[in-house]
Amino acid sequence: MIGELYDAGTGWLFETLLQPALYALGLMDWADEAFHWMDFFLFGCVQVAVVVAVCRPLEMWRPVERGPAGRLVGTDVAYTLLARLGLLPMLGFVLFVAVGARIEGWIAETGFVPPTLETFLPWLRDWPLAALLLYVAILDLGEYWRHRLQHMLPWWWALHSIHHAQTRMTFWTDDRNHILDDVIGAAWFAVIAVLIGVPPGQFPVILLVLRLAESLSHANVRLDFGRVGERLVVSPRFHRLHHGVLSAGREGRNYAVLLPVWDWAFGTADFDRRAYPRTGDPGAPAAYVTGGWVRQQVEGFREVWRALRR
Ligand SMILES: [Zn+2]
Ligand SMILES: [Zn+2]
Repeated sequence: MIGELYDAGTGWLFETLLQPALYALGLMDWADEAFHWMDFFLFGCVQVAVVVAVCRPLEMWRPVERGPAGRLVGTDVAYTLLARLGLLPMLGFVLFVAVGARIEGWIAETGFVPPTLETFLPWLRDWPLAALLLYVAILDLGEYWRHRLQHMLPWWWALHSIHHAQTRMTFWTDDRNHILDDVIGAAWFAVIAVLIGVPPGQFPVILLVLRLAESLSHANVRLDFGRVGERLVVSPRFHRLHHGVLSAGREGRNYAVLLPVWDWAFGTADFDRRAYPRTGDPGAPAAYVTGGWVRQQVEGFREVWRALRR
């Protein structure tokens, strides 16, 4: 239902705005690409709108930190708009299609069909909701291990430290990542999604749910989900502890993105500390803390290079 409305909306926008513009500029050969880009741009707008609508009232309700933090938060807003309205959606889509095409080409050549979840669990075909939840859980497990590696490998921590360097964390901080880190993350996610056989139609829904949970977990709000809830879904308290000054690099705790069960299973959970710690990475270069987007990106490449030579 919502999907149909959305498709009708993008179709209308394309025909009334983009198509005439392409025609006037003699760029009709690019119509398909332009449509895809517009589609993902609008999907990004929906994502940001949903996230702001959910998180902003919460941050006004019970903030952990008060007072002006203008420039520090402004950098994270820039990260979010860049990541969600242009760069990342394009990248994610291109990678998902590219990985899919590679695997299809390989199937055509060898005749071997790689098994997906539905090969092992044929009943999933009749239970689309159960299938969706299972896909989310597996992708979330993938994210848990990517996140742990980001903290364990020195070159990867050199990049991920940008995410941790923010001393005024808000829901905008979710997208505060080095561009190289974004590329690796998108590829990681796309490969797992294709391997387990996520239907392309479900891909955006899964992305939307995970992204909303991620943004919410960064929100500047005193909020936990109670004794049981804390163990079921990642809360702002749970992830704030991950951003605490004592959780940098290899000292990391609470890595999960959506389901804390992974931290519990692999022995990295901290459910006990109730306090809301100061956030930041004490070892981060100054540019990671106070620099704008460009400075952090440049400094990020330098730091990776240094980490690799050590
Ligand atoms: Zn981290
Ligand atoms: Zn985070």
